[in-house]
Amino acid sequence: MNLRVLGASGGVGQGLRTTSLLIDDDILIDAGSGVGELTLDDMLSIRHIFITHSHLDHIAFLPLLLDSIFDRIEEPLVVHGQAVTLRALQEHIFNWVIWPDFSQLPHPDKPVLRYEIMAPAEICTLGERTLEMIPVNHAVPGVGYRVACAGRAIAFSGDTTSNDSFWDVLNARSGLDVLVVEAAFPNESLALSQMAHHYCPSLLAQDIAKLHHNPLIYITHNKPGSEDLIFAECRAAMPARRLQPLRGGEVIRL
Ligand SMILES: [Zn+2]
Ligand SMILES: [Zn+2]
Repeated sequence: MNLRVLGASGGVGQGLRTTSLLIDDDILIDAGSGVGELTLDDMLSIRHIFITHSHLDHIAFLPLLLDSIFDRIEEPLVVHGQAVTLRALQEHIFNWVIWPDFSQLPHPDKPVLRYEIMAPAEICTLGERTLEMIPVNHAVPGVGYRVACAGRAIAFSGDTTSNDSFWDVLNARSGLDVLVVEAAFPNESLALSQMAHHYCPSLLAQDIAKLHHNPLIYITHNKPGSEDLIFAECRAAMPARRLQPLRGGEVIRL
């Protein structure tokens, strides 16, 4: 299993793309502006998109991806998410005002987009890969995913602040090789982190202490311009953990 990081920033700017992770060549987790790194052929290979939550930085390029491939694919691209998340996409994005309803195009009988409601704790099996949806604690209903294949596992937190649900589920599973977890703001923005339901390094360290596994931990979703400060604060707060900054363009092989 390969994880290609298309976007790992909390914002945009030269060289910065928002959250999108490509598993092998056919599964996308979130569809932020990182999708803009894909070639047309890359886009045509994607069969499944798993959405963590409805915020724009995680779905912004989904409408444009579908528009680029809508008359070139045989089978609909399946968008997986919580019912509330998929409903938000239908009502606020694919509503014929912001963008066409691609679950009806190019033809209602043969659309480019199919919604697949998934509930927390549900596991979706795709070939040898399994994706488990895990609830987290964000400003809108949000989830993370644990992706497993051939005895290896990677987990992605999505956007979240302090919670027990994500860590309890990871601890209940047999192993974890890689953890991709957010730290949106530096510690000076503790109040903002709590209000916006994100981690800062001190909040993240409190939750990482709950994790019984010792994965390689990649820190993602940093506020642009604060990357170095946030990572230095993560290192100071979690000296015993194996930490890396997650960078756009990186490929993690498992
Ligand atoms: Zn968010
Ligand atoms: Zn976000």
